[in-house]
Amino acid sequence: MLAGGSNLVVSDEGFPGTVVEVATTGVRADHEGDDPTCGGVIVTVAAGEPWDPFVAQAVERQWVGLEALSGIPGSVGATPIQNVGAYGQEVSQTLASVRVWDRRLRGHRSFAAADCGFGYRTSRFKADPGRHVVLSVTYQLRQGSLGGPVAYAELARTLGVELGERAALADVRRAVLALRGGKGMVLDPADHDTWSAGSFFTNPVVEPAVVPAGAPSWPQPDGRAKTSAAWLIEHAGFGKGYGDGPARLSTKHTLALTNRGDATTGDLLALAREVRDGVEQRFGIRLVNEPVLVGCSL
Ligand SMILES: Cc1cc2nc3c(=O)[nH]c(=O)nc-3n(C[C@H](O)[C@H](O)[C@H](O)COP(=O)(O)OP(=O)(O)OC[C@H]3O[C@@H](n4cnc5c(N)ncnc54)[C@H](O)[C@@H]3O)c2cc1C
Repeated sequence: MLAGGSNLVVSDEGFPGTVVEVATTGVRADHEGDDPTCGGVIVTVAAGEPWDPFVAQAVERQWVGLEALSGIPGSVGATPIQNVGAYGQEVSQTLASVRVWDRRLRGHRSFAAADCGFGYRTSRFKADPGRHVVLSVTYQLRQGSLGGPVAYAELARTLGVELGERAALADVRRAVLALRGGKGMVLDPADHDTWSAGSFFTNPVVEPAVVPAGAPSWPQPDGRAKTSAAWLIEHAGFGKGYGDGPARLSTKHTLALTNRGDATTGDLLALAREVRDGVEQRFGIRLVNEPVLVGCSL
């Protein structure tokens, strides 16, 4: 299953099978404005709709809850796969249900959000690869001119608000796009720093005692702590721009492994292994890749 391809690393040998590209379109909003006291909208979006134009539309129509997810490449249908998230929001916070084709049972199924197995960059769909074809995603969004409470310190600083305060939807989108641009996370064909699969490693979730002194530590509901993969990489000796081959760390963001023009998947994975092994030797924490690897492994 291929959508935007922005979270895939495919083997240099290719894929020996049929690739299905999801290209369905359509955004349907129910109940919008029916009852001004209710103030909510239920929006069902075809899997193939590109994500960021949908976020732009949500901001424009004053639908609240997706604004911090501005600028993420790819399709709507891929967002439940790894519970796409950024800058303090995750789709699991606003997603109501996912309609799929179950290739094993050969039938349609609908999963309410509570049954999607959402966690940090994971879901039941990611855990059971190849089984579910996401057909459409339904979001339940509040209506209003202010975004959700800002839950990410860097974004709050940029907006000039306190954590937990709100800012105008359009301002949040603008601020997120600017922050992402500064980290090379918005594709620019002229800038090799943006030729990446986004963050190559997820932030590790470990026992609190394992988090190195000085590293960020965000408490998790299960008592463990999430720390910053970017911090670990940098402090293991892999600074911005690390590498001298065709695949190097971005000069703007250590978490992005970038193609400087003619890198192969082999080049990229060699760099990823070097970084992963270096972090493990230094801190005893093994980083895990975020993009889906097709026909290859780390
Ligand atoms: C520059 C950059 C920045 C990024 N920033 C972020 C970020 O901030 N946060 C974040 O969470 N992610 C981020 N990503 C990762 C990526 O954009 C998201 O994971 C996105 O949702 C992938 O969408 P896609 O349509 O490109 O999926 P693809 O890469 O085509 O597919 C990804 C996976 O989903 C499966 N899939 C796709 N569509 C369907 C479907 N309809 N049914 C079943 N399976 C399907 C594919 O088989 C594959 O396993 C970033 C990527 C890049 C390149």
